[in-house]
Amino acid sequence: MSSFDFPAAVLAWFHQHGRKNLPWQQDINAYRVWLSEVMLQQTQVSTVIPYFQAFTDRFPTVADLADAPIDEVLHLWTGLGYYARARNLHACAKRVVGDHGGDFPQSVEELASLPGIGRSTAGAIASISWNRPAPILDGNVKRVLARFYAIEGWPGQTAVANKLWSLAEANTPSEQNANYTQAIMDLGATVCTRSRPACSACPLERRCRARAQNNPEEYPGKKPKKTLPVKSVQMLMIQNSAGDILLEQRPPQGIWGGLWSFPELDSDADPTAHQHLIWRHEDTVELIEKWASHRHTFSHYHLDITPVLLQLPRETLAIMADDRFIWYNPRQPKSVGLAAPVKRLLKQLAERDQQLTLV
Ligand code: SF4
Repeated sequence: MSSFDFPAAVLAWFHQHGRKNLPWQQDINAYRVWLSEVMLQQTQVSTVIPYFQAFTDRFPTVADLADAPIDEVLHLWTGLGYYARARNLHACAKRVVGDHGGDFPQSVEELASLPGIGRSTAGAIASISWNRPAPILDGNVKRVLARFYAIEGWPGQTAVANKLWSLAEANTPSEQNANYTQAIMDLGATVCTRSRPACSACPLERRCRARAQNNPEEYPGKKPKKTLPVKSVQMLMIQNSAGDILLEQRPPQGIWGGLWSFPELDSDADPTAHQHLIWRHEDTVELIEKWASHRHTFSHYHLDITPVLLQLPRETLAIMADDRFIWYNPRQPKSVGLAAPVKRLLKQLAERDQQLTLV
């Protein structure tokens, strides 16, 4: 492989074919690079673009983001998934402002010590913002390198990851680093795609081992499969006489941390029983209907959700003194962060109410 200039081939391809008009490739600075990198983790470019635009319109600088309430950040993030990213984004913005005077620190080590910034994101910020020779190893780059060198094994294993990091470092050029980083990510995203890579359009084709073996899709190796456990829960959609829905803020840690959701009950509990203490003992709730269960899959378990619609005769509850709860008006939605299944169910509720009004 020694006679082949890997970075030169990738750069030449980028100058001719790479994407250069993505929103985060304009007005480049560390804040915009960092924001885009965090959003792009496990998320496609086309999905990220409107979120990136909404964030940079609302928070043009890292200080604006640090000043914002977390609820507003989570609200703007709603639908992008992996909400720990949004909470880390906010915590990181506060650290950059509080500890570094509003400027991102310039060393990869210091960057990687900030919340939500791993080694690869730190490398991307340093190389794209300041043209530093810092290697990156995001999902796209892992795929290109694993195929080009036919590296066996799942990159989640330390030994495989170390091998890929060494190759990433060895191929990082000392010049044109910003372009190289964008180029290799872009090559992975648009040519060396997860399935059916366009090898004939690839600048690495001539020396690619996986291509020669005719099995690029075998790389990188898959995570060993394990069966996910299944949990079941009832989500109580409690509607008051004004048509508003009771939402509860989830604890900051854990699934959907800090987002607003429906109160939950074990799958076999009676949703109208008072012992759940969501409402006052003298209030009665009426079970309106149970909706069909649906499955939401997290990385480590499946959650089977049974939505249960309950009606309260009153407009207010004693519980409302507790600021963990709000009455949410689905017809005039508030700016709060909602878990994806909750957002979908609230929409269905609003549609149901509208149909009932028309009848
Ligand atoms: S030749 Fe094919 S498998 Fe190899 S790096 Fe290029 S696109 Fe990926």
